Amino acid sequence: MKKFIALLLFGASFSTLLAQKHKTQNIIVVTLDGFRWQELYRGADSAIINSKFTSDKGGITKKFWAPTPQERRKLLLPFFWNVIGQEGQLYGNRDEGNKDEVANPYHFSYPGYNEIFTGFPDVKINSNDEVFNPNVNIFEYLSKQKGFKNQVAVFSSWQLFPFILNANRSGLMVNSGYTNFNDPKASERLKYLNEIQHKVPEIIGPDERLDFLTFEFGFEYLKQYKPRVLVLGFDETDDLAHEGNYKFYLQSAHKEDGFLGQLWQYIQSDPQYKDKTTLLITCDHGRGDVPLENWRTHGTDTPNSEQTWFAVIGPDTPPTGVIKTPTTIYHKQLAQTIANLLGFDFKAAAGHEVGDAIGSVTQTK
Ligand SMILES: [Zn+2]
Repeated sequence: MKKFIALLLFGASFSTLLAQKHKTQNIIVVTLDGFRWQELYRGADSAIINSKFTSDKGGITKKFWAPTPQERRKLLLPFFWNVIGQEGQLYGNRDEGNKDEVANPYHFSYPGYNEIFTGFPDVKINSNDEVFNPNVNIFEYLSKQKGFKNQVAVFSSWQLFPFILNANRSGLMVNSGYTNFNDPKASERLKYLNEIQHKVPEIIGPDERLDFLTFEFGFEYLKQYKPRVLVLGFDETDDLAHEGNYKFYLQSAHKEDGFLGQLWQYIQSDPQYKDKTTLLITCDHGRGDVPLENWRTHGTDTPNSEQTWFAVIGPDTPPTGVIKTPTTIYHKQLAQTIANLLGFDFKAAAGHEVGDAIGSVTQTK
């Protein structure tokens, strides 16, 4: 009996501790499709700049080249390196011995996003087809928790996100591809975005909205509706790499880093979000590295394309910068990490296995 009371007391104090521990009340997740850890940590690659894959060698060298990887990555991704590198954490720098990978065996997009969002590297998710995902995702789970009803919004460039997040079942607001955001209460700016998105040149293709539009939709939505959970899925880095256009691949990454900076500046200036919001940025798969032309592609036949990265900044994450511990993190751990940051245990409601949270991200400063 004594033991039972002691356990009860321990249980009660433990759950109070959990409830008090986390300052994160909002979460923003941003994905850069197929962006390599090599450019994140080393900056622009001179071998690719000096190959047939870069059209404007002089201009790109001038813009993104410097003698050391530390200088180069700062030129390419100033927000990552001036802000997250100082105040957040970055995982997957293999040059420093830290590894981040996808656990699914396929190394392409739908399996990659399924793993991140459901915490489960489901081997049955093996194509990019427009199939509704049977697995429950973390955002769907969150939207059913107290205080999160109608508080989740997803904007993506790739039109497959409503399938990946099963918008039919989950009821999540998922705006993807060249789809209008329809709400009579929407601001004039959102309505204008609906109008102009059908007028931009189809540079990538009909299934992938240009990332600046996805960002503008998401950012305007954030300012007007103030959701507690926002997901932005960018796509250009993958599309441009497949096209073999290194100049545009680098420029897109640089532009998206600027979007992240704009987003973070807003978050830290708004009372609802300031010091109560965690920003997590990652990718759905890596790409090859040797031989040189493998940077363009990924998948089971492309060695090293399971190699990924993620970055995180927020009130619960110690500002340790580049993680150098010799551990391997898997993307199946990100869903539970998001849940824990908000004080939830995703396992309870899932119905499929979920990877463990990453303790070094969720501990209080
Ligand atoms: Zn791809």
